[in-house]
Amino acid sequence: LVDKSGRLFHRAKLSTTDYDTKEALLKAISYKIKRILKKGHISSRDLKGIGIGVPGPVDFKRGLIYYLTNVPGWKNVRLKKILEARFKIPVLIDNDVNLMALGEHRFGAGRGARNLVCITLGTGVGGGIIIDGRLYRGSSSVAGEIGHMPLRETGQRCNCGSFGCFERYVSNSFIVGEIKRRIKAGEHTSIKRLVKDNLSLITPEVISYASKRNDKLAIALWQDIGKRVGIILSGVINLLNPEKIIIGGGLANAGKFLFGAIRDTVNERTLPIHKRTVKITKARLGADAGIVGAAALFL
Ligand SMILES: [Zn+2]
Repeated sequence: LVDKSGRLFHRAKLSTTDYDTKEALLKAISYKIKRILKKGHISSRDLKGIGIGVPGPVDFKRGLIYYLTNVPGWKNVRLKKILEARFKIPVLIDNDVNLMALGEHRFGAGRGARNLVCITLGTGVGGGIIIDGRLYRGSSSVAGEIGHMPLRETGQRCNCGSFGCFERYVSNSFIVGEIKRRIKAGEHTSIKRLVKDNLSLITPEVISYASKRNDKLAIALWQDIGKRVGIILSGVINLLNPEKIIIGGGLANAGKFLFGAIRDTVNERTLPIHKRTVKITKARLGADAGIVGAAALFL
């Protein structure tokens, strides 16, 4: 429950994996919304609307979810229509990273910027674009898929059907896999000791911890990742000329080695004019960005 100044009053949580069918999950979502209203001592008539962000492509105008990669059974779901029938108030559906961009723009690290790009680095890579103060959705409302910008001319097959996509070379699973590979190849690192030789315990957080304690392999890895992010962002910056790039998602906490390499690469690879103008900063609102962004759809 969010007010027009972006203040978050109440929240509820549920796990999509606890529900076997689309109908059961829909019922649980409706129940949670009703509970939040009860907590806030208001009725749905007091709301301007219900904003929803989902991890997948969405037709914003029709309120249709094309599909959700990690939630089975959610294909071509008209969620807007379903929830409007239940609550009798306007419902807007958007992609979660779009809403994160909107949230950071209105209430977070992007306040005051006219043009910005938000990128999330973590399990996958997402993007959201603000142009002239408004969210840019593109002609089929699926703009901003930075994770599927091609990084390599050839390369690993991606789950989007293409190959060599940026996401394949910077995601959590790539980073962890790369460290494991290099440890097995005999490279020296404190990470092995940190996880007590159990390589399955390696996470990006462990690698960050090691890099902050001067582990050479961990630092080199963040620099490699930062370089790739910087290369892709250089393309984004040359194309869109944003004032700000906001980096969120789990890897945004990786620290100075990642951000340093991103900034160095952007300085090296963008047009000279961008060096003075574009700021690369960490997202400020964390997981709340999507929630206040969903509310911002109605402001
Ligand atoms: Zn792809």
